[in-house]
Amino acid sequence: MREKLQRFMAGRYGNDKMNQVLSIGALILILIGAFFRVEPCYWLGLLLIIYLYFRMLSRNIQKRYAENQVFLRYYNQVTGWFSGKKNSVEQNKGYHIYKCPECKQKVRIPKGKGKISIHCPKCGNDFIKRS
Ligand SMILES: [Zn+2]
Repeated sequence: MREKLQRFMAGRYGNDKMNQVLSIGALILILIGAFFRVEPCYWLGLLLIIYLYFRMLSRNIQKRYAENQVFLRYYNQVTGWFSGKKNSVEQNKGYHIYKCPECKQKVRIPKGKGKISIHCPKCGNDFIKRS
C-alpha cells in the first residue's frame, strides 16, 4: 500500500507551507460553516481542500513552487507584523505611558524612578507622576 502511494506520488509536487496553511484555513471554514450553518463558509472550505489536493498531486512542480514562494512572502509579512506587535508590547513593559494633562500627548517614562516631574515634549507643560 505504501509503495503504491509512493509510486503514485512520484513526480508530483506534494506538501508545502502553503498547503499546510490552506488545510488549516479549510478546516476552520468548514467547522464555522457546520456549526453556525453558514453554507458559503462550508463550500469555500471544501473548495480549498480540492485546491490543495490539486496542488499536492500536481505534476507542474515549478509552478507550484513559485506559488508557494509568493505565498510565503505574504505569510512572512503577516507573521512578521504580528511578532512586531508583540515586540512593541514587550518594549513598553519597563515603561509607563502617561498622557500630558494639557495636550494629551503620550509620554513614555521608565518604571521604578519614584515620583518624578515629567516635562511634556509637545507643549512644555510639567506634571508630577509616580513612575
Ligand atoms: Zn503637553
